[in-house]
Amino acid sequence: MDFAIEDSVEQSAFREEVRAWLKENIPEGTEYPVDPGDLTLEQYQLRRELGRRLGAQGWLYPNMPTKYGGGDLPVEKVVILNEEVGRAGFSLPPYYDAGGRMAAPTILVWGSEEHKGRFLPEICKGKVRTWQLLTEPGAGSDLAGIKMTATRDGDAYVVNGQKIYVGSSHGAEQSWTVVVTDPDGERHKNLSWLMIPMDLPGITVVPLNLLTAGGEGGSGCGHKNTVFFDDVRVPAENLVGGENNGWKVATTHLEMEHGGAGRLGDRRIIQEFIDYAKSEQHGYSLLDSEEAREALVDLHIESEVTRLFALRNYWMAHTGQPRSYEGSQYSLRRKLSGLDIAEKMLEIAGPYALTNDATYGPLNGALELYGREAITALHPGATTDIQRVIMSRRIGIGRQDREKAGALR
Ligand SMILES: Cc1cc2nc3c(=O)[nH]c(=O)nc-3n(C[C@H](O)[C@H](O)[C@H](O)COP(=O)(O)OP(=O)(O)OC[C@H]3O[C@@H](n4cnc5c(N)ncnc54)[C@H](O)[C@@H]3O)c2cc1C
Repeated sequence: MDFAIEDSVEQSAFREEVRAWLKENIPEGTEYPVDPGDLTLEQYQLRRELGRRLGAQGWLYPNMPTKYGGGDLPVEKVVILNEEVGRAGFSLPPYYDAGGRMAAPTILVWGSEEHKGRFLPEICKGKVRTWQLLTEPGAGSDLAGIKMTATRDGDAYVVNGQKIYVGSSHGAEQSWTVVVTDPDGERHKNLSWLMIPMDLPGITVVPLNLLTAGGEGGSGCGHKNTVFFDDVRVPAENLVGGENNGWKVATTHLEMEHGGAGRLGDRRIIQEFIDYAKSEQHGYSLLDSEEAREALVDLHIESEVTRLFALRNYWMAHTGQPRSYEGSQYSLRRKLSGLDIAEKMLEIAGPYALTNDATYGPLNGALELYGREAITALHPGATTDIQRVIMSRRIGIGRQDREKAGALR
């Protein structure tokens, strides 16, 4: 992949193929609620159907190996696929599947062949959706401080404890979960990862409605939950990456989550806002104002820079380039520029940007949602402070020896 602005002939043909496929395969009746919190069960199920159709093509997880249900597509085709799915109004996967997005590449690195054969195809084909269960009431930024225990008992681990700020609306088939397997063990040497089927007895999911679900726009995240585990017996073969080796496994998971590989910037809202600014609203166009025109250019530049950071990371990860601080750099950039963009939109559109009123809220309230998400997105997947801490350790400021980036495929 290079940074060509225009598609090559082959890329252009692939783009056309994806567009035509999406036109044919987006299930009839699929709607696009502005706020993923409004996604009904019926609409969620239509998105799952689209996910299965994408999965059958190898396009749900297009960069995973075909052997495990992915598409093994070259990076430029993955980028095109993401762009076209985004243009059609969805993300990839077209529903919240944070556990799948992080677990699949992590299992590829740390799972046994048996784990890969058992877990990856069902994720990549869209047969299951997976939540990621890391945070606890006393352990967010300090993930190594979690307390939820998994105690070996015969052919099972018995899990007890609580996770918070996790999941989404409409449930999940499984959860990719970090637990303590050696309560007396040394910090960082006492953790393990379990794939937990969510229909096991002893699991209780309690909804937790927040200002927004945060940073998952378009994916149908909706809300978060607290999940309680009371003597949940999880098959021992669901432990991935080795007992008490979970911190190493976590470094891959976190590298993915922080932006080492998995995300491409979404500029749709910017383009929609520019189109809105050009149109006549309530008797005038925002472009009549010189200040607004200048601010729109800034906004375009802001979002373009973030997108290029994302593309660079994508390219680095999927072509095996050596990586260091880039994941956290992108995450920090995405969070801070999101806030900046929200402020600029507010400056340009004025108080209209603060309402989702059907008559006055620009873009059906998408601006209002963007503003709220820009605030909550500062927190999940490691806060801005934590991204700075990671960067400093990796560029040799925070520690004597430079910390290494988590292993990716
Ligand atoms: C919308 C949303 C979605 C989420 N989704 C998920 C999910 O799907 N799965 C999941 O497991 N978790 C999820 N989380 C949890 C999220 O990962 C944690 O909230 C986050 O890691 C921060 O942890 P905390 O809330 O416990 O804050 P704390 O860790 O208590 O931090 C409080 C403040 O202290 C600062 N701070 C902490 N440590 C340091 C340090 N060493 N140096 C400098 N400053 C520091 C932080 O930056 C923050 O400002 C989600 C959270 C939100 C809000």
